[in-house]
Amino acid sequence: MITATRLAHILSLGLLLAVAAHAGEIEEGVIASGTPFETRWRAYDSDVEGPTVLVIGGVHGNEPSGHRAARQIATWSVNRGRLVVLPAANPPALAARTRRIPGLDGDAGDLNRHFEVMDDEVRPTGPAAPAIWTFIESIKPDVILDLHEGYGFRAAGSKSVGTSIITHRKVDDPAQQLMLDAVNRGIENPERRFVDLNGIVKGSLARAAAVALGAEAHILETTWKDQPLSRRCRQHRRMVAARLVDLGMNVDSEPMVDMMVDPEDARPRIALFDGAGAGSASQGRRFEAQLPGCRVERLGPEDIQAGCLDAFDAVIFPGGSGSGQAEAIGVPGREKVRAFVDEGGGYIGVCAGSYLALDNYTWGLRLVPMDSHDRKHWRRGNASLKIELTAEGMETFLESEPMREIAFRQGPLMQPSDEPDNNAAVDVLAWFRTGVGRNGADPATMVDTPAIVRVEFGEGRVLLFSPHPELTDDMEDWLRLAFDWAVETKPVPAAAPSR
Ligand SMILES: [Zn+2]
Repeated sequence: MITATRLAHILSLGLLLAVAAHAGEIEEGVIASGTPFETRWRAYDSDVEGPTVLVIGGVHGNEPSGHRAARQIATWSVNRGRLVVLPAANPPALAARTRRIPGLDGDAGDLNRHFEVMDDEVRPTGPAAPAIWTFIESIKPDVILDLHEGYGFRAAGSKSVGTSIITHRKVDDPAQQLMLDAVNRGIENPERRFVDLNGIVKGSLARAAAVALGAEAHILETTWKDQPLSRRCRQHRRMVAARLVDLGMNVDSEPMVDMMVDPEDARPRIALFDGAGAGSASQGRRFEAQLPGCRVERLGPEDIQAGCLDAFDAVIFPGGSGSGQAEAIGVPGREKVRAFVDEGGGYIGVCAGSYLALDNYTWGLRLVPMDSHDRKHWRRGNASLKIELTAEGMETFLESEPMREIAFRQGPLMQPSDEPDNNAAVDVLAWFRTGVGRNGADPATMVDTPAIVRVEFGEGRVLLFSPHPELTDDMEDWLRLAFDWAVETKPVPAAAPSR
């Protein structure tokens, strides 16, 4: 809410442009309608004279950060010029997670070789490029930022163009340099720093735009190897934000870098932690697949420390290592997670994410008044175990029979806390009725201990699975049902959260 006094104050600070942004307009459209390449674009037109910047993602289907980051950038607004985003340029390849258009080999399948230039004219070929080129010509972009990923780190001597900015025209080198400076700030390891490359490959969209349209064009390459998706998306967002600020289209890059979801999006917004201690990318994809209809974004330690959780309804901390996740987000991140739940956010822990929420670790979030029991024998092994749902459990997961088998991967054994930080009553939703005990553990220790619990914490709600519903057949809807319970008390925000 901006009062007249506050408005006067903002104007006196010279932040008129930030306020004027609200006068802008969102436009949306579809290209290649009715074909397998049908895809949506979104534009934010500030209604103030200025440059048009086009951000493209998903030209190659096996480069998820380009697509994800563009989808996130599509939620941004600008206060000068026009920001146009095409997040999924190649839907069939994205669905198949392949570089090439499924069914087409070599350059015939590589969409980024389909924008040939002859005599300064672009002759788009193949099944997708003609519609994309017609769209680009209609947008008349001054700047094109095409988001891609490579398999290696260029600065470490890889042949891959991963972790670089590739620029075609010499005149655009200063813009390339300012994006490099922005993204390299905070990257300590010299082998992981972004480098400048010059001259874009023939047939590529960016080269065609530079040569035939006279546009400033860059390919922004992150690296998928050994880096979580959240970090790569943040790098993409940081490069694009830096360019927009330099073009005078926004005042400050940080609010853009931290913006990943549209606060007006009616879909449930779920943050899935993917930083250190969070297991593999395939685990993340499995969670997403079991949350249909939700906007799921991967968040890393930097996102959490920056307060990005506030735009979400709930956070999931998945399997992996509880201490590893705690160390990754650090004390500031743990305080952010606690505050998020305290203020009404939902928390869902699975295995390691449940350890993280317990009371008796120095690194624990202390959201749930339960201790981890028999800690010495945490390596008790993997097994399919019997659980018995309570009445509340059957109601939560819409089950008619109490006994189920569920995958167990060394999740926590829980018992009431000695010194609870949270005095709310814990509901047990299911009990372990069988146990496993390798590496010196006694299988009987875990029999009749809670397998799934839920509790309120401040204004928010917490639900912990010691075992893995997402790895168990016929439990594909349990995560979504857990989420439904966890966010029931949280009203959907009516406006953008204040920062
Ligand atoms: Zn690529």
